[in-house]
Amino acid sequence: MIIDFIQPLTSSVTSTLHSIFMLSSSRHYWLYMACYLAIATALYFYAKPKSSQHSFIQHLFPRQIYTHPSVILDLKIWFVIILVVKFGIFGILYTIVGKFSALTDSIFDLLGPAWQAERSNEAPGFMDRVWFTLILTCCIDFGFFIMHYCQHKISWLWAFHRVHHSAEVLTPATANRHHPVDYTLEAGTAILLGAIGTVVFTRYHGTEVDRLTLLNTSAIHCVYYMTANLRHSHLWLSFGQWPSRIFVSPAMHQIHHSIDQKHYNKNFGFVFSFWDWLFRCRYIPTTREDLTFGLHNNEFGYKGLIDSMVRPFRESFGKLASIKLWARKSPWTNT
Ligand SMILES: [Zn+2]
Ligand SMILES: [Zn+2]
Repeated sequence: MIIDFIQPLTSSVTSTLHSIFMLSSSRHYWLYMACYLAIATALYFYAKPKSSQHSFIQHLFPRQIYTHPSVILDLKIWFVIILVVKFGIFGILYTIVGKFSALTDSIFDLLGPAWQAERSNEAPGFMDRVWFTLILTCCIDFGFFIMHYCQHKISWLWAFHRVHHSAEVLTPATANRHHPVDYTLEAGTAILLGAIGTVVFTRYHGTEVDRLTLLNTSAIHCVYYMTANLRHSHLWLSFGQWPSRIFVSPAMHQIHHSIDQKHYNKNFGFVFSFWDWLFRCRYIPTTREDLTFGLHNNEFGYKGLIDSMVRPFRESFGKLASIKLWARKSPWTNT
């Protein structure tokens, strides 16, 4: 009897852990986590300030960060996100946006026969795949960027996104500290723009093209994930001035989490930083900066898991009612 109950539970836990740590499309894939440790080790030996007394283990896992209550809340919210994705509380939306090829087919159907590609008999070459991979990555990345931009500018979207920014310390688990609505909007916009990009490319190219892959996932995202776990961490990794004009470095995302006024509403990008340049909100640090993470005193954080999940609905409905309340007020407005 108990076995009947335990068996599905253990297989569910095993498959969840497998999808988090053993799939290369997950940012916590074991190889990306190994890259995190390798870069952290390199930073200890080559970039540690001479005055630092920290041991190697303290450098990797500082006790004041990993025992902070904010990390416990990160993990609780991550658990909720796993439930949402796995057991489909937002199932309808995930069914629609989660099946990428089904979505592109639906868009083709919607546009009618004129948009069906004039089929080319030539097999796509390597450069076709390079172009398709670049265009698809740009579409998905712009989807993430534009929704993230709106989440900071529109008050009722900010009510949900604030859950992510209420983290007072950053660890790789903070990447999953998102309200399910926030998470769904970001992923949904990215997948929708990716599907539209695929439809347009296929229409003009004449045939379907596969993207370039590395470790069975998109090649560009695979390389991005090698350093992505440092974005939410205590470790500072900047790419320098020129590469940061194209790619968002982990340091640039930490600037995004900073509560300093000069960092307010900067660096919304995920892979590419030129979107931030286009929208005049790019901030490339020239030197290491001391950062405080979390929310400004005028922007109240959420207390605990239930508050983080429930209060954004209450706040956003209050703001949705009147369009005058849609613009997010800067926390420095009254100071
Ligand atoms: Zn943000
Ligand atoms: Zn973040």
